[in-house]
Parts: sequence; structure tokens; C-alpha cells
Amino acid sequence: MTRTAIVTGGTRGIGAAISTALKTAGYNVVATYAGNDEAAQKFREATGIPIYKWDVSNYEECAAGIARVEEEYGPVAVLVNNAGITRDAMFHKMTPGQWNEVVNTNLNGLFNMTHPVWSGMRDRKFGRIINISSINGQKGQAGQANYSAAKAGDIGFTKALAQEGARAGITVNAICPGYIGTEMVRAIDEKVLNERIIPQIPVGRLGEPEEVARCVVFLASDEAGFITGSTLSANGGQYFC
Ligand code: NDP
Repeated sequence: MTRTAIVTGGTRGIGAAISTALKTAGYNVVATYAGNDEAAQKFREATGIPIYKWDVSNYEECAAGIARVEEEYGPVAVLVNNAGITRDAMFHKMTPGQWNEVVNTNLNGLFNMTHPVWSGMRDRKFGRIINISSINGQKGQAGQANYSAAKAGDIGFTKALAQEGARAGITVNAICPGYIGTEMVRAIDEKVLNERIIPQIPVGRLGEPEEVARCVVFLASDEAGFITGSTLSANGGQYFC
């Protein structure tokens, strides 16, 4: 039976590459997004991948959305928690709103999405949870206390849940991308990118979304069944952990 995969934030950037790569690998893929209808429609037209809109920071919306997906496409076998946001500010200027938005989306979103699929995966004795964390959750980043804390939390969540899922055939892994050439990163001033960011990356270039997507396809596969609780860095050598 074809396995169903949900990719949160799967309509743009890294998530779009993940959705497409999983579809190519033979999964029934569903991509979710938060509010950018135009980008989501374009993505659906270009790929044929169905799109669903809900907010990963809201538990009830996640549970209801997942129930709709399972009704249409069958049980979720692969969950890619990719949706994420930044609200950068130096800590002395960071507002409670900036802190909460980032933690609610980037960390609480993992609970909200994973909890509704977990029991089904346990019952079926198979599941793949892949959490997109970040290099900045590993090393910390000035101006991103909120984001670094949430992304480090994603790694702790991964390690704890991997222990709970192992006997039930569920693997839980994290991927930590470095600088990836998505719209967000390419929007950074070219001078800053060329003079300050790229020189910090030993391979001398930004990563491609497809390079992260290939990691996901591997971790989702049957062949990766012995890999759980791991943190896979895809950062061009920028940070070793
Ligand atoms: P983008 O900003 O390009 O895309 C983010 C996606 O997440 C969009 O589809 C967006 O929906 C969705 N999303 C955002 N908030 C929510 C929410 N509350 N509920 C549901 N969906 C939501 O991000 P990237 O591709 O750059 O990043 C993807 C992931 O990779 C993130 O977790 C990010 O932190 C991580 N990452 C990215 C790096 C990079 O260099 N780009 C580096 C390291 C990690 P909509 O289109 O509706 O806004």
C-alpha cells in the first residue's frame, strides 16, 4: 500500500522540495501551509500535491486537519515537521509576542502535529517522524534566542520520542540544515551574504532545498529503520556537533 506522508509548511522553500521528493519516491504526499494561499495554489498546480491549510501552533486545528487527511488518504505513515518561522530580535528588544510566536510554531507545533498521529503509528507498528530543526538550535545564534531555544527543543523532543517509539517500529529523527538558499535566505543583502555568511560555510556555497529533501527521503525509507534519535547536520561543514 502506498504510504501517506504529511509535510507541514510543505508548499514553500525547503518544505516544497521535501514534498516533491517524497512524491517522486512514491508516497501519497499532503502539504500543509499557514496562510499564503497564492503560493500554496501555485505549488498545487505545479506538482499536483494536495494542500491543506491549518496552523501548526493550534492543537485542535492539527487534530482536525490530520483526521481529514487520514479520511481521504489513509493513515499517516510519515510526518515531516518542517513548518517554521523566525521573529529575530536581540534579546533586550525581544517582545513576549516574538518569543511566543516562534516557540508556539517551531516547538509546540511538533507536539500538536505528532500527538494526533502517534497512537495510530504505535498500533500499526510503523512510523517515521522527521523534525526539521536548525544549525542555530545546535550552536545558538545572536538575535535568535527564541528560534535557537525552540529548535534545540526540537532535538530534545526527537531524542525522547525516539526512545518511546523504537519498540513500536517508529523512528524519530531531526535534520539540522545550515544556510539553505530559500527565498528567505536569498532575500538577505547580497553583500552580507557574500562577505559575511558564505565565508563561514566551508563548502563555499548555500545549501539547496533538495539537499535537505534527500535526507528526508532517506530517513523515511524502510532502509533507515535502524536510525532513530539522530540529528543529521546538513550545513556545508559550518558546524560540527
Ligand atoms: P519558508 O518560510 O520558505 O516556508 C515556511 C513554510 O512553513 C510555509 O509553507 C509556511 O506557510 C509554513 N508555516 C509557517 N508557519 C506555519 C504555521 N503556524 N502553521 C502551518 N504552517 C506554517 O521556510 P524555509 O523553507 O526557509 O524553512 C523550512 C524549515 O526549515 C523551518 O522549520 C526552518 O526553521 C528550517 N530551517 C531553514 C533554514 C534556511 O536556511 N532556510 C535553515 C535551517 C532550518 P505559508 O506559506 O502559508 O506562510
